[in-house]
Amino acid sequence: MSDAVMPTYARIDLAFERGEGPYLYTAENRRYLDFAGGIAVNSLGHSHPRLVAALEEQGRKLWHVSNLYRISGGERLAERLVEHTFADKVFFTNSGTEALEGAIKLARKYHSHNGQPQKYRIITCDSAFHGRTMTALSAAGNAKHLEGFGPQTPGFDHVAFGNLNELRAAITEETAAILVEPIQGEGGIRAASLDFLKGLRTVCDEFGLLLILDEVQCGNGRTGKFFAYEWAGITPDVLATAKGIGGGFPLGAFMATDKAAAGMKPGTHGSTYGGNPLAMAIGNAVLDVLLEEGFLEGVLEISGYARERFEGLVARYPMLFEEVRGSGLMLGLKCKILNSDVIVAMRAGGLLSVGAADNVIRLLPPLTIERAHVDEAIAILEDVSQKLAQAA
Ligand SMILES: *Cc1c(COP(=O)(O)O)cnc(C)c1O
Repeated sequence: MSDAVMPTYARIDLAFERGEGPYLYTAENRRYLDFAGGIAVNSLGHSHPRLVAALEEQGRKLWHVSNLYRISGGERLAERLVEHTFADKVFFTNSGTEALEGAIKLARKYHSHNGQPQKYRIITCDSAFHGRTMTALSAAGNAKHLEGFGPQTPGFDHVAFGNLNELRAAITEETAAILVEPIQGEGGIRAASLDFLKGLRTVCDEFGLLLILDEVQCGNGRTGKFFAYEWAGITPDVLATAKGIGGGFPLGAFMATDKAAAGMKPGTHGSTYGGNPLAMAIGNAVLDVLLEEGFLEGVLEISGYARERFEGLVARYPMLFEEVRGSGLMLGLKCKILNSDVIVAMRAGGLLSVGAADNVIRLLPPLTIERAHVDEAIAILEDVSQKLAQAA
């Protein structure tokens, strides 16, 4: 591995040359079934023909012009997001953490715009992950991620994930908003109960707070709904997303109701790249597929099948696995032995996955997988489990 790359990742000594659907191939043509999906990014798998076509077509026309000018693809993508979500206004970013930064800025601006600049604090949850900028790190409050980086961004109060009483008790005159992942990804595929999400909406209404949802990982069809909040029958005031929305192209967004976004006037926020024509062409192509009649129903169908098969595995190997968690195709296998030992064995067997906190293995396949791919994953896991169970 090259010394020139800053060693912030403990990288696996494995490189891929091409991808096709749910498969990745090395230069030596070894095939892997990809249930890591670039960490929930490759929502349509690798080299999806419609994404490749959009990239090639836009790539020949226009890549970047800056936000000094109108961008028709961005107007179209924003309008489609508005049509299919709670939101009235959309701002495009290049990543998830930037989407969170924007959402946090918007929430603070909302209150200052309404004459209450003292309301700037945001309540967040333990074991959350919101990205790697200083403010996103401060929002999540993970000591390991913050260590050595000096003073945090002030203004975040942390409460236990899922505890509405503790959350209510943390509200003060300075509270501006509540920020939550409907399903914690990095935290271990921990889904908030629908009652907790409904409770958050009630609390926000009662105290005049904005409800910000981080759907960077769980959004964009991952749970079988366009966004996970739909499962709870509530709507947020602000939502940050990224990952699956670009299908592999760096793209994120934060969106809000007109009311919440009232303070976001010309000059209040910006991004040089955000929403450039190339990103917008690909974002629109992703939505072309996600919003196609029957696509999300298909995700529900295949995820029901996958869950059933993974639950069968857990039942056959109770010495290795505790449970299947999550929703849709955002699944977690809670392990009883070290998750990384299982992940290494899976990879040796040709199945890619990614770890999460709480000793969980994340299974984040493309939303386009079929039963045969699930069966293939199960066959590899069965083999791996047999060996690990014998060794345990
Ligand atoms: C990945 C992730 C982020 C950060 O996204 P980046 O694109 O890595 O900046 C934020 N929130 C959640 C829930 C995520 O899963």
